[in-house]
Amino acid sequence: MEDDWVPVKFPENFDQMMEDMANSNEPRIGGCLLCNSPIRTVADLIPGSNVHNCEVGSSFQSEVTAQEQAAEHPPKAEMSQRCRRPRTRSNSRREC
Ligand SMILES: [Zn+2]
Repeated sequence: MEDDWVPVKFPENFDQMMEDMANSNEPRIGGCLLCNSPIRTVADLIPGSNVHNCEVGSSFQSEVTAQEQAAEHPPKAEMSQRCRRPRTRSNSRREC
């Protein structure tokens, strides 16, 4: 008889979390691939991500965040220097 076991409290969005983890290749609860430490609870994760909140995980996450931001806001492509041609043809206009 094991009547003294403590029921595990799942967070309200546990289903969503499981779905996110199933759809993600990132480290899941159970172990950190970056530092080989066990991840026991979501409290061990960086808030808003599935990455272990450890030194390696933090730098990894900051890299991912930077890449995501770069993807959302790509650096301006080099503007090809176009010659501005006057609409009206003028003989004396200098061409590029
Ligand atoms: Zn870790």
